Amino acid sequence: MKYVLITGGVVSGLGKGVTASSIGVVLQACGLRVTSIKIDPYLNTDAGTMSPFEHGEVFVLDDGGEVDLDLGNYERFLDVTLTKDNNVTTGKIYQSVLDKERKGDYLGKTVQVVPHITDAIKDRIETVALIPVDGKEGPADVCVIELGGTVGDIESMPFIEALRQLSFSVGKDNFCLIHVSLIPVLGVVGEQKTKPTQHSVRELRALGLTPHLLACRSAQPLLDNTKMKLSQFCHVEAANILNIHDVPNIWHIPLLLRSQNAHHSILKQLNLLSIATPPDLE
Ligand code: ADP
Repeated sequence: MKYVLITGGVVSGLGKGVTASSIGVVLQACGLRVTSIKIDPYLNTDAGTMSPFEHGEVFVLDDGGEVDLDLGNYERFLDVTLTKDNNVTTGKIYQSVLDKERKGDYLGKTVQVVPHITDAIKDRIETVALIPVDGKEGPADVCVIELGGTVGDIESMPFIEALRQLSFSVGKDNFCLIHVSLIPVLGVVGEQKTKPTQHSVRELRALGLTPHLLACRSAQPLLDNTKMKLSQFCHVEAANILNIHDVPNIWHIPLLLRSQNAHHSILKQLNLLSIATPPDLE
């Protein structure tokens, strides 16, 4: 199984969900089978009891799971049928660990965030990634994992640590990290600012994860100079810096990614260039 992890930096609501779904579409168009997992670092078991005024739409899956609206995006973009297990929350993980603790499964050990919670996260990701979601038999080729929240949040730390361990255990050819970040423009100066992205990449690296691609959200297309700065200071090849500027309709985003050869960078990282065919999204 190959994993593509999407993390977010600087601010929330950047479009990680839409980016993850669009990357799934581009990979599907290369002939790969894609599944997805959404990680929500909140203590609610699922989104069913959360106010739509605060949380937005609660998406109901075919198996009755009440989940985050991003799973709706995945189903619509990728034409898959997800299960409630494809939404991993802190609540679900803690509940499973506490149930095991009450049953005595830890054989008298002190149950801790590391390694017990992080192991439970890794096990859950590896198990859920194998569930077929496209009506075909057998597991998908690639699992796109979206980590909700922003890198550096206290809530998401156990997930970051578990994903760091996962990236190490599956090996570099099976793991691609795409960091979604914001490139703001200061009104008075009128310049695209890269410093917030530099800081969030530094934060990610301090936690042991190195982004292979950057997906930069901006109001207007990125200037060449901005791209060069990002490449130099964030240690990411210029070809792997993608720009997702504001578009009138989110269905343009897979095309925007394809036009920047995002598939080539991802397939290269995952060592899939020889088997996958270039995408046809027309
Ligand atoms: P996150 O998962 O980071 O919280 P979402 O994927 O839910 O963010 O996106 C937040 C909002 O931004 C959604 O309403 C989405 O349609 C919108 N959005 C995302 N990317 C773009 C874009 N490139 N242009 C315009 N709107 C976008």
